[in-house]
Amino acid sequence: MSSHDLIVLGAGPGGYVAAIRAAQLGLSVACVEKEPALGGTCARVGCIPSKALLESSEHYHQAKTEFAGHGVVVGEVRLDLPAMMSRKDKIVTALTGGVEGLFRKNKIARHFGHARIEGPGRISITGQQGKTELEGKHILIATGSKPAPLKGVQFDGDRIGTSTEGLTFREVPETLVVIGGGYIGLELGTVWNRLGSKVIVLEYLDRILPGTDNAIAAEAQKIFAKQGLEFRLGTAVSGARVEKGKCIVEVANGSPVTCDRVLVAVGRVPNTDNLGLETVGIALDERGRIKVDGHFATNVAGFSAIGDVIGGAMLAHKAEEEGVAFVEHLVTGYGHVDYNCIPSVVYTEPEIAAVGRTEEQLKNDGVEYRKGTFPFIANGRARALGHTQGLVKVLADKKTDRILGVHIIGPRAGDLIAEATAAMSFGATAEDVARTCHAHPTLAEAFKEAAMGVDGRTIHI
Ligand code: FAD
Ligand code: NAD
Repeated sequence: MSSHDLIVLGAGPGGYVAAIRAAQLGLSVACVEKEPALGGTCARVGCIPSKALLESSEHYHQAKTEFAGHGVVVGEVRLDLPAMMSRKDKIVTALTGGVEGLFRKNKIARHFGHARIEGPGRISITGQQGKTELEGKHILIATGSKPAPLKGVQFDGDRIGTSTEGLTFREVPETLVVIGGGYIGLELGTVWNRLGSKVIVLEYLDRILPGTDNAIAAEAQKIFAKQGLEFRLGTAVSGARVEKGKCIVEVANGSPVTCDRVLVAVGRVPNTDNLGLETVGIALDERGRIKVDGHFATNVAGFSAIGDVIGGAMLAHKAEEEGVAFVEHLVTGYGHVDYNCIPSVVYTEPEIAAVGRTEEQLKNDGVEYRKGTFPFIANGRARALGHTQGLVKVLADKKTDRILGVHIIGPRAGDLIAEATAAMSFGATAEDVARTCHAHPTLAEAFKEAAMGVDGRTIHI
């Protein structure tokens, strides 16, 4: 039985980044992954393929609706869905292959198979070659998450499916019902809406994007509705089935909806399937997530956990930060994640991005704040791009002026949020940002103007 300093279970962004950092710091590392490709949900069936389709479908949409306004005349614009899917698949293959290369470079022992904890410091791997065992001084559980099921909904792996099926439709559904108006519902709903589907979003709550700043979410809903997404809020889905080639979605408070395909996106749940946690007594919380302390240690010595399988935002970069912090703490005694500075981005058009607390959270926490906003319509670069919807909102502490939250809906918000995150990570005030020279004409000037707005001295509006 081979033995390692660290065995990582799962090669998603949490696990593979932890494995690389550990190897860089001189540990002997093994990583077990049950899928043939490395990179996890993110690279295989999550962040990367969804962004590839968002990008391609946006090009298609722009060619159809925006090129003429730029004076670019094209002939008939047609969709070649197999080519779009094949481009996406190539990107996924390149990136997952890239992780394999990084493993080789860092001399990480890669094991292909299902990992199961067999006892303290001991795991088994069941794969094509049968069952083998490994020993490790430390075991890091990074097994991620899987789509949450929905009571009454019969997944058939084709017409009624999750994001995984929603990334691989072979034809554009005439009508697509998306259950859940969160990240996946809006991103994949947007993709298929752009490609020609009638998309109906059934959302249980009376709003979309729970957790997002209220005003930004309301603005987003208005914009997406104009793009053609139909929102039915306050809708409780009680079942879905396939009948005579059509899907029937039952709702508790209205008539059934008939459609061609159903995409269920009602959240994700931690993946601890057949992991053997009970063999050593690793504790879970009430939502089935592995309980950890501030340094990612479980209640059992020698076992730690990071990423989607523990609490907190289910985001790739959060998992990565935790992987690095865990390993650095293990090796050097220092390692920390600033959870107040984890940005989030919804990659629709316009994009929605945020870092820090929302206005609602500040009110609930009784924090006095000042607010500056700036609309993209008054930003020169946004005008040149022809994408002027949305705004930047900066929230700063009333007394100290320290930035507490930044919320953006607008063009390339996902890139703009990096500056806000860096500013908050360094404890910047709104005045610090307002006094920083920003290149002109850039979208980032909207952030500076919103920061100036905290002090009531926005220039361009
Ligand atoms: P995962 O990426 O889920 O990786 C866990 C790995 O463990 C998997 O490869 C799994 O096969 C493996 N595994 C599980 N059990 C075992 C076992 N017993 N033995 C061996 N291997 C095992 N996040 C973002 O930040 N940005 C985005 O744009 C974004 N887009 C997304 C789009 C979609 C459609 C989805 C579904 C998710 C998206 N996410 C996004 C979320 C992101 O994918 C996750 O937060 C991230 O992948 C979590 O990383 P992780 O390493 O914790 O787990
Ligand atoms: P989500 O939590 O973002 O949204 C789920 C939505 O479904 C919520 O609005 C919720 O109110 C609604 N809902 C729950 N039960 C319902 C029901 N019975 N009927 C109707 N609506 C219901 O979850 P998701 O969209 O499935 O995505 C899962 C996670 O993956 C996200 O939370 C996020 O962490 C991650 N993700 C991130 C990105 C990104 O970073 N751009 C993209 C996709 C996914």
